[in-house]
Amino acid sequence: ALYAAIEGDGYHVSRATIYNTMELLSDCGIVRRHQFGAQPAQYERVSATVNHLHLICQQCGKIKEVKDPELVSFMNSRRYSAFHDSYFCLYVYGICAACTRRNRREAGK
Ligand SMILES: [Zn+2]
Repeated sequence: ALYAAIEGDGYHVSRATIYNTMELLSDCGIVRRHQFGAQPAQYERVSATVNHLHLICQQCGKIKEVKDPELVSFMNSRRYSAFHDSYFCLYVYGICAACTRRNRREAGK
């Protein structure tokens, strides 16, 4: 997707350069790499990843980000022995509303 966007802007960069750059940004802690099931890896800016949930549809692969203040305050109250935690990131797998509707329609045929 990044390669297509860069090409669309009229710049020419090899895919290897993009992969290497994303790995470098990941190593520096600027972006975080997410691997959702069998989908290609996705990257997200670190400041945007803190303390939110990813709802991942197992059928269409759509990823929705949601905040859950109750869960955040619970997680912030947790203490783990001999470990100082910085942030958390939670993946919730399931079926999205659009796929649920589609499945119902197809089951009704
Ligand atoms: Zn879906």
